[in-house]
Amino acid sequence: MTPQPARKHALITGVTGQDGAYLSRLLLDKGYQVFGLVARRGSDALWRLRELGIEAEVKLLVGDVTDLSSLMRAIGQAEPAELYNLAAQSFVDKSWDLPTVTVQVTGMAVTNVLEAIRNCDARIRFYQATSSEVFGRVQARAHDESTPFHPRSPYGVAKAFGHWLTVNYRESHGMHCSSGILFNHESPLRGPEFVTRKIAMGVARIKLGLQDKLRLGNLDARRDWGFAGDYVDAMWRMLQQDAGDDYVIATGRNASVHEFCRLAFAHAGLDYAKYVEVDPALLRRAEIEAVLGNPSKAQLKLGWSPKTTLEQLVAMMVDADLARLRKGALS
Ligand code: NDP
Ligand code: GDP
Repeated sequence: MTPQPARKHALITGVTGQDGAYLSRLLLDKGYQVFGLVARRGSDALWRLRELGIEAEVKLLVGDVTDLSSLMRAIGQAEPAELYNLAAQSFVDKSWDLPTVTVQVTGMAVTNVLEAIRNCDARIRFYQATSSEVFGRVQARAHDESTPFHPRSPYGVAKAFGHWLTVNYRESHGMHCSSGILFNHESPLRGPEFVTRKIAMGVARIKLGLQDKLRLGNLDARRDWGFAGDYVDAMWRMLQQDAGDDYVIATGRNASVHEFCRLAFAHAGLDYAKYVEVDPALLRRAEIEAVLGNPSKAQLKLGWSPKTTLEQLVAMMVDADLARLRKGALS
């Protein structure tokens, strides 16, 4: 076993994603050396790190969570004290079209990450990005750590597997493993396929006369939406505890897609009713109608609470897409 380096090292899988970018910035601000596992699939995979101005500071290591040897090599190179597993096929709707890929990347690959840690250095503290999708069918008014799972998509099933494996490595091997059961969190860096970013981009394009209508699926679905920048702080706090544990991270308030649209269009001085249309082709095969989280445990044990309101989040997202469009950085 090699001694831990003086400056804390962290390794992030999924570093090019929304949370990977915000978590990298948080850890760099705390003085960490940040390493990111990158498979380099997209044509401009580093755009989020660039937007946050940290592209040059994150050390990129080539690897894929479905490839155990690349993970072991990355751990050998990074020598991390903390490993955050954020890699996933993270879009619920796509998981019905790509169930095998989703289960392999989002679920099975957690085994690779945990085995790589166990074999390289079992002292490494581990964070698993679990999702409120594990709860699926609504069984409680507000979901907490004791609410039973009933996932409704291949993505949710894969996340449930990752969660239980994380718990199992904590219990079987005594490793410092935490599962953050995070409810939806958004930002200007959110992927364009998710409804909040689709709305923000639509509002910006309509405001600038580039689009007439915004077509959406289920407007009645309710989500507990928070700001990704707040949520990555909760991930870090979990790994600073004496032992690993499971935590629900949410705002405790939900809103409908209707409501999100109303706020977003109003922020740009527009009435959403004139622009939003329902396209039945965008309805889900199995919908989760309402999602609400109870973050009391995280508040009590981690001293964490969300800082950004839904109204602030909406404004931030619409303003960012308006600015991008105005400077030609969004088509
Ligand atoms: P993103 O979709 O923005 O990021 C996913 C990341 O995973 C990307 O960097 C992607 O790289 C990478 N990735 C995909 N497949 C592989 C692979 N085989 N090997 C290595 N990397 C891979 O997700 P978010 O940042 O929003 O979310 C982070 C994590 O949190 C995910 O696991 C997500 O499922 C989970 N989560 C997110 C929530 C949210 O509301 N944002 C809620 C609850 C959980 P590439 O771009 O090259 O494909
Ligand atoms: P999810 O909660 O992880 O599935 O996040 P999404 O942002 O993809 O979807 C949130 C909710 O918005 C779901 O209930 C969707 O059915 C609903 N929704 C309505 N219209 C759309 C749409 O056009 N795109 C997406 N992605 N979701 C939509």
